[in-house]
Amino acid sequence: MAKFLEYRGKEFFKQAGIPVPDGVVVSTPEEAQEAARKIGKPVVVKAQVLAGGRGKAGGVKLVSTPEEAKEAADQILGMEIKGLLVKQVLVEEQLAIAQEFYAGLIINSAQEVRGPVLMFSPEGGIDIESVPEDRIATLNVDVIKGLMMHDTLDMVVSMGVKGAAVRPLADLVLKLYNVFRAKDCRALEINPLVLTEDGKVYAADCRMEADDQAVFRHPEFNIKIGREFLKEPTDLDLIGWSYEASDFRGTSYVAEMASPEEVAEGGYVGYHGIGGGAAMLGMDALNKVGLKVADYADTSGNPTASKVYRTVKLIMSQPGIEGYFLSGFMMANQEQWHHAHGLVKALREELPKRPGFPVVLLLCGNKEEQSQAILKEGLAGFGDRVEIYDREHVYDAKFIGGRVKTLVEEYRKDQAAA
Ligand code: GDP
Ligand code: MN
Repeated sequence: MAKFLEYRGKEFFKQAGIPVPDGVVVSTPEEAQEAARKIGKPVVVKAQVLAGGRGKAGGVKLVSTPEEAKEAADQILGMEIKGLLVKQVLVEEQLAIAQEFYAGLIINSAQEVRGPVLMFSPEGGIDIESVPEDRIATLNVDVIKGLMMHDTLDMVVSMGVKGAAVRPLADLVLKLYNVFRAKDCRALEINPLVLTEDGKVYAADCRMEADDQAVFRHPEFNIKIGREFLKEPTDLDLIGWSYEASDFRGTSYVAEMASPEEVAEGGYVGYHGIGGGAAMLGMDALNKVGLKVADYADTSGNPTASKVYRTVKLIMSQPGIEGYFLSGFMMANQEQWHHAHGLVKALREELPKRPGFPVVLLLCGNKEEQSQAILKEGLAGFGDRVEIYDREHVYDAKFIGGRVKTLVEEYRKDQAAA
């Protein structure tokens, strides 16, 4: 899922007319001080990481002066919260909180619902999981009919809210649903939704997750890779993703695992798995013989030969790799001749450029006999370190790992001698 930092979610809130505290996101203590000075009131300094529970972890600090904001930012920046490094803080005007509420939406994929569920609770500021069921109003929203103001008024009133707070709360919850729809969210949450002492409502926090499959229609998200990808994408990652963005036939997943500098130190192979489980076996096979992967690649779901070809070319483009390993360790339920064609075309282009380069191919599954014939015929005479294996070695990580290791060592000797 495409997850958003609090400050980005709040930008979308603001555009939709949901009140948010006045604030700025910054990445240094000095900028935090300046931001606090401009806001001109006591502020709250908040860690921007894709995790909840920042308050408990010391990532949210209330301060009175710009100097204190600088100190707080200095403490929070560089902190790790749930394993995530804090690189930015949000500096926001402090709210005089009278009451904290919770409002949220998730997609419930259970058969009888299959749609958004709206939740509202007067128990805000704490984990919604720990709020008793009878203190949460829920509503399965009919996406065709949509949500009406009377629905949210009912929810707010059903939780015991009275007087002047009812209307602004109901209005905010309605707008929350509008953002949820407009941004194709899977989850959108405000905790706490704050009622201030002077009777105003604010989204004081935001947790937003959009559907990866909808990222393409939201250029405003500015997401470079439309699927779970928790690091800043490298050039290699972006090239890999470009194959997916324009061709939906099967999948190719490519992620850079080591920087070119690390790969240059030696001991790395270009890595290509078929399916997650097989890919794990292959990684294990390499680990056991002391080799590392420069990249992680996975072509599965019956991809076309062209997609496999592009993936192999990308893997082979990594300077300093000492071999190429296709780890098709399981009986893949896809027509493997597409892999065979893609591999043959890419390797016939690449191998003449690097004599003696180790290539170990393990490919089994549907159309295996034909696929093996394509590989053997297509790669005959292309390098004397090309080894091709079939179902005889399915799951045989020890043997295959050993072959990769032996060929890499031979290749290193050649390189040293040259
Ligand atoms: P989370 O712990 O990651 O969910 O971070 P939150 O943004 O929810 O902040 C944690 C808590 O800090 C909230 O539940 C509030 O109690 C408190 N807090 C956040 N902003 C303010 C503010 O402007 N004024 C006051 N008084 N408390 C705040
Ligand atoms: Mn929160």
